Amino acid sequence: MVHLQGVRKSFGDNEVLRGVDLEVRAGEVVVVLGPSGSGKSTLLRTINHLEKVDAGLVSVDGELIGYRRRGDRLHELREREVLRQRTHIGFVFQNFNLFPHLTVLENVVEAPVSAQRRPLDQARERARALLARVGLSEKESAYPRHLSGGQQQRVAIARALALDPKVLLFDEPTSALDPELVGEVLDVIKDLARSGTTMVVVTHEVGFAREVADTVVFLDGGVVVEQGPPSRVLDDPQHPRTRAFLSKVL
Ligand code: ATP
Ligand code: MG
Repeated sequence: MVHLQGVRKSFGDNEVLRGVDLEVRAGEVVVVLGPSGSGKSTLLRTINHLEKVDAGLVSVDGELIGYRRRGDRLHELREREVLRQRTHIGFVFQNFNLFPHLTVLENVVEAPVSAQRRPLDQARERARALLARVGLSEKESAYPRHLSGGQQQRVAIARALALDPKVLLFDEPTSALDPELVGEVLDVIKDLARSGTTMVVVTHEVGFAREVADTVVFLDGGVVVEQGPPSRVLDDPQHPRTRAFLSKVL
């Protein structure tokens, strides 16, 4: 479903991704772990072309992201085309990024109506179903500032789902939350995992990774140092850098 091949990305002379290969199969949950600055956010952002790669290829559901192939040449897609591709790739940020001036329901309805031109009635009906799924039916008329962080993040997840994405990307979805609110957000993500949503989750929640991940990827210094099922990467890591990292976070 998501395929990265030889992805490289530098900021100035700081080479942040040094040739990353990653394969996420349909219905699979991949959890990315790694120290601060290892390139996790950058990696996620290359998947929906928020960061343009310097080398390598990214594809989602067989479609090259950000480029079109003509013969053996790659041509950059126009902004409009990239935006269309992005509507199929859900992104949930650390800091929720809800529209503060819109109600909960309006936040969830906005993209399907404006980006996918869905009829408002239909978008509302779907948004209500998604809000029920994340346990927020009672809050549809509230504004984000009146919600807890955990509630805001659940709205952000409903909003991402409203576009029926092929894959959902999470960048540390619980790290801005008070500890007592982490569980309610992880429960929603677990529910999505059980129903077969394809996801890439960057998180420091090792317990979550152990429970939910099909594959754990350990990124360090812009390379995938180790990857495999949680039972191997978390409980029997082979690489000294993975061991050192886990000994600090566990
Ligand atoms: P954290 O766990 O702290 O979120 P991370 O693994 O997500 O870290 P990235 O945010 O991907 O790491 O950053 C990797 C490196 O790239 C860091 O050195 C960072 O300073 C640098 N970097 C990221 N984005 C930019 C940018 N837009 N411009 C310049 N440097 C950047
Ligand atoms: Mg990050």
